[in-house]
Amino acid sequence: MPLINTTKHTPIKLRLARDLVRTIKRGHPWVFADALRQTPAAPPGSPAILFDNKKDRAIARGFYDARSPLAFRVCTTDPAEPLDDAWANRQFVRAAALRRIWFDGQTTAYRLFNGEGDGLPGLICDIYADTAVLQLDGDGPAAFWNVPGIAEWIAGTLELKAVCLKPQSRRGEAGQALIGPLPIRPVTFLENGVRFQANLLEGQKTGFFLDQRDNRRLIGQVAAGRRVLNVFGYTGGFSVYAGLGGASHVTTVDLAAPALQMAAQNWQINGLPPDNHLTVAADAFEFLTRAAHKKNAWELVIVDPPSFAPTKESVKKAIAAYQTLIASAAAITAPDGLLAVASCSSHIDLPTFLTICEEGISQARRRATLLTMGGQPADHPSPLPFSEFRYLKFVLMRVE
Ligand code: SAH
Repeated sequence: MPLINTTKHTPIKLRLARDLVRTIKRGHPWVFADALRQTPAAPPGSPAILFDNKKDRAIARGFYDARSPLAFRVCTTDPAEPLDDAWANRQFVRAAALRRIWFDGQTTAYRLFNGEGDGLPGLICDIYADTAVLQLDGDGPAAFWNVPGIAEWIAGTLELKAVCLKPQSRRGEAGQALIGPLPIRPVTFLENGVRFQANLLEGQKTGFFLDQRDNRRLIGQVAAGRRVLNVFGYTGGFSVYAGLGGASHVTTVDLAAPALQMAAQNWQINGLPPDNHLTVAADAFEFLTRAAHKKNAWELVIVDPPSFAPTKESVKKAIAAYQTLIASAAAITAPDGLLAVASCSSHIDLPTFLTICEEGISQARRRATLLTMGGQPADHPSPLPFSEFRYLKFVLMRVE
């Protein structure tokens, strides 16, 4: 089965309105509509050739979506390279080879295809043991990639039982089985030898926050003997690592009761004593305020909120929200306790986030020492010039 849908179409010619040639040649894979001279009508996902703004020189091939602000996505910067199944197959093989560097039997859940980071614009594939979940980022990618053919490639290459397609979160469509049955029950997998279950179809993202893997390990390393509070805990990823790392007690807070049920389950399937784990269904901000009133304190606090800045316009409000949150979290961190804060907003960069941390800690009238920082793991690669793709920031501090 084909891997891409539109090989037979004649590529559309697009011209740059600005000199973006250097950035594109360096690997930046996006061209917005306002950087194109014309945006001709065409079905989403149409193959296209991009020409520079001066000499009419072809500089890249990719696909086009006339209706999206993100009008052109680069597949190759060699304009002589045909965009066909042989090209797609080469990209898939490269992506799979990269994962073999990192993963063995101890980690069976990982991101196989990270879209632009693997030279596969808009194509996401996460593996959970013998099940794969595909996701497409927009109408262009959905039309360009031939999902049934890709499912066959993945199942055949990795010897999987099932491949499903998860709709983009905004749309509320049901998941679709591509190979094997739909994973309606939780799937069990390993991460650094830790056992987890995830609801691939109902859960957030593709079921689990694979991007926090390295940071979870870090939390496991510093948890020994500490009372731990995991705020925005979801299905207990950080909590279980803390428990296995020797935490004396862990509290997991989240708004979503089903996620907390899964957190309790994940705690239990790792053989941890149920008495050492408490789940609290509550709003994080309210929980932290109440805890401060009661003068509660924890020796390790983890705060991993959803993105407060999904768009550029929301950045200012988001900065204020992060700051309040960090101040509230610092207030309930025991003296010389550890505080880990994460942000998954791509619109807030690391220097900005560190300033937010500084302001938040100061607002709580505390001081902090930065111990270490983390980000996305190696199965979430990004082209070097494409900083927009490096969204995850993780900061571990000691709060004096
Ligand atoms: N740390 C988790 C991922 C957290 S994702 C992990 O490693 O798996 C963010 C979580 O925040 C989601 O589970 C969501 O349900 C929860 N959430 C969103 N808004 C919230 C709020 N106001 N209070 C508490 N939890 C909230």
